[in-house]
Amino acid sequence: MVDYRAARLNMVEYQIARRGLTEPAVLEAMAAVPREKFVPTALRDRAYDDTALPIAHDQTISQPYIVALMAWAAELERGNKVLEIGTGSGYAAAVMARLAGRVVTIERIASLADSARARLNKLGHANVQVIAGDGSAGCEAEAPFDAILSAAGSRTVPSAWKEQLAIGGRLIMPLGPFGDQQLVKIVRNGENDYARKTLVAVRFVPLLGGTG
Ligand code: SAM
Repeated sequence: MVDYRAARLNMVEYQIARRGLTEPAVLEAMAAVPREKFVPTALRDRAYDDTALPIAHDQTISQPYIVALMAWAAELERGNKVLEIGTGSGYAAAVMARLAGRVVTIERIASLADSARARLNKLGHANVQVIAGDGSAGCEAEAPFDAILSAAGSRTVPSAWKEQLAIGGRLIMPLGPFGDQQLVKIVRNGENDYARKTLVAVRFVPLLGGTG
């Protein structure tokens, strides 16, 4: 029988902190969210492996380190409103919900959105709203966002995401063709002033629909 709490703390130490990501709030959030409750039952004992894992509908729950890296890069603060594209299991949304004020997360596969919503409700994340739909156009009704994070890769930066960033807002997304993606951080410094920085090479499922 796996001691999930011990495995989680081990993951935080060896997969995140020892890779140089030592922001206390991010480590605390990663230590608090039970990843074993977001993976399929048959994979529970692998919940703290240093890897992405399959979930339903041929999708994946991201590697813990990448979830932490994206949350850190987004510089989330308690008062922030965050948009996530690609809810998947809801795991990253749960991590961000511990760092930000409110998380709106969009998933194009309705049954994944439904199960993530139920899971997040059961775990008491009242500040997460799960929407079923195409997130490539962002969420105009809730904009502007202090941070937008995409868990699906796109060849180009969807213009709606840039437009829906608050001034000072951060967009973290995998950019480039499948197999050659870089995780990038785009900061909106002014109305038409965006700065882009490359963080690390990544491998995410493709963004489908709209501009994906
Ligand atoms: N954040 C998730 C987690 O913590 O489990 C991982 C998500 S998985 C890597 C990427 C997700 O993006 C998939 O569930 C996929 O269905 C979704 N996706 C792809 N294109 C999308 C789109 N245009 N709008 C919303 N979701 C999309």
